[in-house]
Amino acid sequence: MGIETFDRSLWSALTPALDAGPSLQGDHDTDVLVVGAGFLGLSTALHLAEAGVRVTVLEAEQPGFGASGRNTGFVVPSLKTAFGPADVRDALGETGDRLTELVGSSGNLVFDLIRRLGIECSAEQTGWLQPAHTGAVMKVLEQRQADWLALGRGVDILTPEETAEMVGTPGYHGALLDRTGGQINPLAYARGLAAVARRLGANLFWKSRVTKLQRNGGRWLAETAAGGVRADRVILTTNALVGGLVPEVEASMIPVRVHQVATAPLSPELGATILPMRTPVADTRRHTFAVRWSPDGRLVTGGLVLPGPANLRRATRIFSRRLERAFPMLGQVRIDHVWNGVIAATLDSLPRFMSVEPGLDAVIGCNGRGVALTTALGRDIARLHTGEIDISAFPLPHKAPTPVPARAITRHGPSFWLPWSDFRDRLDGRRG
Ligand SMILES: Cc1cc2nc3c(=O)[nH]c(=O)nc-3n(C[C@H](O)[C@H](O)[C@H](O)COP(=O)(O)OP(=O)(O)OC[C@H]3O[C@@H](n4cnc5c(N)ncnc54)[C@H](O)[C@@H]3O)c2cc1C
Repeated sequence: MGIETFDRSLWSALTPALDAGPSLQGDHDTDVLVVGAGFLGLSTALHLAEAGVRVTVLEAEQPGFGASGRNTGFVVPSLKTAFGPADVRDALGETGDRLTELVGSSGNLVFDLIRRLGIECSAEQTGWLQPAHTGAVMKVLEQRQADWLALGRGVDILTPEETAEMVGTPGYHGALLDRTGGQINPLAYARGLAAVARRLGANLFWKSRVTKLQRNGGRWLAETAAGGVRADRVILTTNALVGGLVPEVEASMIPVRVHQVATAPLSPELGATILPMRTPVADTRRHTFAVRWSPDGRLVTGGLVLPGPANLRRATRIFSRRLERAFPMLGQVRIDHVWNGVIAATLDSLPRFMSVEPGLDAVIGCNGRGVALTTALGRDIARLHTGEIDISAFPLPHKAPTPVPARAITRHGPSFWLPWSDFRDRLDGRRG
């Protein structure tokens, strides 16, 4: 597993602590039990509590402890580049159209929610910029713009010159700019969602890892070390950290560790040159170069590192060099924070809404695009429970879990994918 890095992240350093919640002691009864307090579990609980449903959340550590409190904080209103609206329709039929609509609206949904609930999380709706590293990928982005326009949603295509101005470095073939995206402090967002959910009446227990889930007389019983919760319905939102709790759910995804680094605070002059509009950037390389400004004037970036000892040191070296190459005006970069988190990856990059057993559902697998999507899915799960929408109107198929094929081998895929992708990206760079 490596060293636990939650407390080392920039977000832990910047975010005021949340009043420690109680941990579960003794027996407790509820209508809906949510297991896991990441964005997905918290958005589900918040929207259920808002609708007046009795809801309880059991969290193994604290709200935002998983990927939600450690990510880059990009609010991205799209799936991965290769997955445009037509591809999602091919994969999921009409349900895919609903997923596309949900994803397309998810940027505004997050920022509207933050404003409506008054969550302090350094939210900046400065857009989301995806620069193309080759001419061929630029054509794909132009097609994406046409796809979104056909659905009545405007996104902009930038020229190479406009892109260079927005990124602060030349060399890209243009970019797609989605003005509904932006950036947040993800841990502050998670803690904010938790505080509001609690205020609205959700019962939120920390340090309450569910060790066993069993059906009992038509209801569910979730056991923790010091108590138990009986519920009519359980929603599992543990994402990659599910462990052995529900083996079918664990087998349906591949955990992938992603590293993040934050530089020392940089000068205002650099702030006026690099990403001067404070628009977060994630380019189209296979091993994406993603970079943003933090609220306190640091650059934050990251990606995959081959697993092994000293990978925090290697992440520091690799990602500081990447920054120095992209922005030579930085000179030698000093890294103040390095941390990592785990995403739940699916082979087709689509999330799963799994019907595990009657009354037990699991929603996982938002891959690396989970800030906006989990918030939106949580809202819709709550709507499903209150009857506001029917299962046939949900933006994902509701199916039994299916294991990732040959998972014992596939789970090592990122170790092979990374050097190959870096090599192909370098090749593209030379050709470009
Ligand atoms: C380094 C990194 C960078 C990323 N950057 C971005 C980005 O910029 N933009 C973007 O859109 N997405 C990004 N992602 C992906 C995004 O963070 C995730 O898709 C999203 O946070 C998943 O949220 P979640 O609520 O499903 O799961 P998580 O946030 O992982 O929450 C799961 C929770 O379940 C709890 N849990 C697990 N087991 C139990 C149990 N037995 N009992 C009780 N609780 C349990 C865990 O403690 C955890 O708090 C990134 C991910 C990583 C790791």
